[in-house]
Amino acid sequence: MTYDEQLAGIESAGLLRKLRAVESLHGAYCRYNNKQLLNLTSNDYLGLANNAQLRETFYKQQVEAGTWQLGASSSRLLTGNTTLYDDVEDLLRCNYMAEAALFYNSGYHANTGILPALTEKKDLILSDKLCHASIIDGIRLSDAEHVRYRHLDYEQLSSILNRRRHFYQRVFIVTESVFSMDGDAADLEQLVAIKEQYGCILYVDEAHAVGVLGDKGLGLCEVQQVINRIDIIVGTLGKAYASVGAFAIVNTTIKRLLVNKSRTLIYTTALPPVNMAWTKFVTEQMADFAEERKRLEALTEFMYKALFSKGYPVHQSHIMPVFLGANDVAVQLSEHLQKQGYLVFPIRPPTVPVNTARLRISLTSDMQQADIERMLQYIPNNNE
Ligand code: PMP
Repeated sequence: MTYDEQLAGIESAGLLRKLRAVESLHGAYCRYNNKQLLNLTSNDYLGLANNAQLRETFYKQQVEAGTWQLGASSSRLLTGNTTLYDDVEDLLRCNYMAEAALFYNSGYHANTGILPALTEKKDLILSDKLCHASIIDGIRLSDAEHVRYRHLDYEQLSSILNRRRHFYQRVFIVTESVFSMDGDAADLEQLVAIKEQYGCILYVDEAHAVGVLGDKGLGLCEVQQVINRIDIIVGTLGKAYASVGAFAIVNTTIKRLLVNKSRTLIYTTALPPVNMAWTKFVTEQMADFAEERKRLEALTEFMYKALFSKGYPVHQSHIMPVFLGANDVAVQLSEHLQKQGYLVFPIRPPTVPVNTARLRISLTSDMQQADIERMLQYIPNNNE
C-alpha cells in the first residue's frame, strides 16, 4: 500500500492524527487557535509548570550559581553524567527508602529500556491488557515470552501463573498503577501478594500517580504501603513533576545491570543540566506540595460526582474518561467543547480499544471548580 493510501485509510476510519500548535500555556489555560481555553488535556497535575513563584526562585538560583548549562554534550556513560544526576538519584533513593534509583531521559526510554535489559528467552512477561504503548514497546523489544491478562483481572493472572510459572526462569508482572486512559487503579497489595506467592518480579509504572498520590507524593505504592515490596517502580517527570525524564526505583544489582545493558540509557545524550537542576529543585520539594494535592483531590471529587450522576462509569481519579464509543462522536464533542472554551481531545484507537473512543479529561490543581462546573453542562447525559 502506498503512503497516500495508508493515510486515506486512516482518515476514512476517522483516526487521522494531526499535530496542533499550542500558542502558549499559562496556568490552567492555554492559547490555541487564537483563543483562550481551559486546558483539560494537561498532565501538569499539580500546576507546577506554571507556578510563577517556583519558577522565579529556580531561575534566580541558577543565575546566581552560574549553573545555567543547556546542553549535556554526551551520553550518561560518557561526560553527560553530571553530579546533578547523582543528586537526583540520591534524593529519589532516599524518598523511596530504596537501595537505588536510576534516571532515564523519559518514561518512554525507561519502559522501552528496562524490560529488554532484564529479560532473557527463558522468561515470561505478564502484563495488564491496558498497559501504555511504551510498556508494550519495551515488551516487544525483549526476548521473553509475553501474555496479557485482562485489565485488572488478578484471578486470571493467578490462573496463568498456576499453569505456567514453573516453565520459566523469571516471570515479570507488569502494570500501571493509575491507568493513563481510564483513570482506574491497580490493586498493588494484591499484586504484591501474587508476585510473592509465585516468586515473580513486579514492575509498576506510576507515571500518572507520582506527585499526585501519597502524603509525600510517592504514588499509589505509598498509599497502599507496598513501596519496599515492589521490585521496579517507574515514575515519570513530565507530568506532576513538571519536568522531563523518568526514574526507576530498583535494587543495586538491577541498577548495575541496567547501566551495563539498558540501551535507552546508554545510547542517548543525557538530559541538559538545566533540566536536571529543575528536576532536583522540584524533587526536593515534592513532599511539600500537600496543598496542591488536596486541591486536586477536591476537584476530582466534584468532577467524579458530576460525571457519575450523568451516567458515566468513572473512577474517582484526576483522569476521567467520558466514554462515547464511536470515533466521530468523540471528535464532534471535542470540537463543540473547544468552541465553548474548553480544550479536551478525543482519544481513539489504537491508543484505546476499538469502540471505546472517549474524551480524556484530566484535572490540574490550579483549575477553578466553577470553570469545571460550566464545562460539565456541555457533556451529554449518558443515563438513558
Ligand atoms: N508511562 C505511561 C503510563 C504514560 O502515560 C506515559 C506518557 N503519557 C509514559 C509512560 C511515557 O512517559 P514520557 O512522557 O516521560 O515519555
